[in-house]
Amino acid sequence: MKYLKIAVITSICFFSFMHVRAEVGQNADEDQYKYAAQRRQMVFHDLKARDISDPEVLAAMEKVPRHMFVDERRRAEAYADYPLSIPDGQTISQPYIVARMTQYLKLKKTDLVLEIGTGSGYQAAVLAELAGRVYTIELSKLLSQKANKKLHKLGYSNISFRCGDGFFGWPEEAPFDAIILTCAPGQLPPKLIEQLREGGRIIAPVGEELQAQKLLLGTKQQGRFSVQTLAPVHFVPMRGQAQKTTQR
Ligand code: SAH
Repeated sequence: MKYLKIAVITSICFFSFMHVRAEVGQNADEDQYKYAAQRRQMVFHDLKARDISDPEVLAAMEKVPRHMFVDERRRAEAYADYPLSIPDGQTISQPYIVARMTQYLKLKKTDLVLEIGTGSGYQAAVLAELAGRVYTIELSKLLSQKANKKLHKLGYSNISFRCGDGFFGWPEEAPFDAIILTCAPGQLPPKLIEQLREGGRIIAPVGEELQAQKLLLGTKQQGRFSVQTLAPVHFVPMRGQAQKTTQR
């Protein structure tokens, strides 16, 4: 009798456990489905409807799970058309800005890309979908470690992380085919221009005052560096050496 009771209790526990697991699994599947639908909407309404037309950039934006890079409490807003806060007082850019800056870089599968300002790691994931390898530098140790863990968990194996001041670039891995800054220095850091390959492109928000930042696209052709001003933007400031060298 005693053994029968134990067997009955064990079976009840086992079946309840399996039921809970099945429900959790089902919810996770439903979430994936829901977020994939939100991503498709975002690509259609906020990117294609504007000026994002590169099919590979659109595919990368439709693939990368942005909700995994934002605070759990803000997941419902992950695919909305605005920037969101991430820890350490920083922000993850609006999806359209991420797509637009990426599109200007015209990445090829063999390109080496340098990103300054890893933040949540979202932009790095989008770049990693399109380039050969991404080198990403972040000043905040907390953010760098979090992004590293997350991107590893999501299966990205072509991203290298460094915690440090991106003002100096990553000379050991230079030259780069493309460079992207997701924090704004007062002026383009000279070391980054030096580390750009011939024919390479650099995209950066630049400006000492938040209200007067501009998105710049720089190119190096036949040893000459030229810059084009694209649009007014609002990015978090580049900290560290950039703030010491800015003339105020
Ligand atoms: N690309 C990020 C957005 C990050 S916001 C994303 O997709 O989430 C800009 C980031 O630049 C912040 O995380 C900030 O800590 C970082 N940053 C600021 N100054 C820096 C510097 N000098 N070197 C490297 N990172 C810097």
